[in-house]
Amino acid sequence: MCLKTVFTRHLLDLRLVFSTMPTIRNAELLSIGTELLLGEIVDTNSAWLATQLAERSVDVFWSQRVGDNLERIVHAITQALERSDMLVVCGGLGPTDDDMTREAIASVLDESLIVNPTLEHELRERFSRFARHMPEQNLKQAWLIPSAEALANPLGTAPGWLVRTNRAGRERFIIALPGPPRELKRMWQQEVLPRLTLPESTFYVRQYKTQEIGESGVAEALQDLTKARNPTVATYARRDGVHIRVAAKAESEAEARDLAAPAERAVEERLKPHIWGTDEDELAPLVIEMLKVKGKSLASFEAASGGRLSKTLSDVPNANSVYRGGVVAWSTGTMQALGVPSAEQMRPGNATREMTIAMAKAACHLFGSELGIATNIPGHGAVSQQGDDQALIALEICEESVVKELSLPHADQPWRRERLTYAALFLLWRQLQ
Ligand code: AMP
Ligand code: MG
Repeated sequence: MCLKTVFTRHLLDLRLVFSTMPTIRNAELLSIGTELLLGEIVDTNSAWLATQLAERSVDVFWSQRVGDNLERIVHAITQALERSDMLVVCGGLGPTDDDMTREAIASVLDESLIVNPTLEHELRERFSRFARHMPEQNLKQAWLIPSAEALANPLGTAPGWLVRTNRAGRERFIIALPGPPRELKRMWQQEVLPRLTLPESTFYVRQYKTQEIGESGVAEALQDLTKARNPTVATYARRDGVHIRVAAKAESEAEARDLAAPAERAVEERLKPHIWGTDEDELAPLVIEMLKVKGKSLASFEAASGGRLSKTLSDVPNANSVYRGGVVAWSTGTMQALGVPSAEQMRPGNATREMTIAMAKAACHLFGSELGIATNIPGHGAVSQQGDDQALIALEICEESVVKELSLPHADQPWRRERLTYAALFLLWRQLQ
């Protein structure tokens, strides 16, 4: 038997040993790059990969960032192989000397880096296709080690790696992905996922979205549920209110859904007055849709929200069929020209409230709409004694005025305008029920 045949046989044997793919139950994430540690770029890759893995019921117990330092990358990989079924490394696959992911993996596995002829050919082809000279430095992107399979990257010059090795009597995987998010996402979806065996169990998740209740209020209402492990109930303070996420894991989607059902019912019952939507719902499109269904039109008059409400509403596709437009004004002269009486003309004590209602009525009048909404601040920006800014929203709806007064914690202007906008949208949503 010639040497070549023996070698080929040996490779085939190796492939047979590795042909059954064990199920990967937990994974660890490692993002490489000094720029991540300096805060110059945000590690969005880890966040994206974490959601990908969670959706597939793979537990992620560790996620870390390490700079471009061979010793520390080697340390992180060594540690990950001891404790996780799979390590997903991202970044550090560039052609320059500071990109050392390949060197680090080779060092941990004690394997040699060899230029792979196929990868070299593809790399040279890619450069010549773009009529560019290939710097020899780029050749390191054609490196491979015996335990690694190259993962194609049609969007860039760095192929990824899928490495299979053994630690503590179990097979372990290292997936090395390029840093640019576009390349990483494609490679994960097209090259990595089809090669992995992930848990059979299925994940079910539902988000509830609330308004007019703070995160601590939600936490108190759901105290007993947030302690459970499956389903899990978690709260998140978001721009448009507090979100509640109910998630369950089981052998099938139907089982996961059943498991989550009692927690979902409890959330719905306990937070009923506050829940305005679920999952992909957004307040402004919901309001526009309700106006369309009811055949009503809307206009706005904004002082306190500074145009934010108008922008949010008009950003909704085809909003103009029901949202007639808005005015942004706070100078007394302009207000009066638009039909809003001055504070002196109002009853003392109730001046801001009456003025806000007058603004909502003026919006209806100016735009010929059935509904008018206005946002205002007492004395146009006065700070209350508690350090909170008081704000008012008035909704004029078919000759009836609804006023909502709220305290906005003292914070920067854009944040307060955003909060006020969502509060106004929620008032509209509730009144349109
Ligand atoms: P690298 O593969 O380390 O050379 O990374 C190339 C580029 O990908 C960087 O300059 C960033 O723009 C981007 N990048 C790298 N790592 C991340 C990450 N963890 N999250 C988001 N973008 C990243
Ligand atoms: Mg880098």
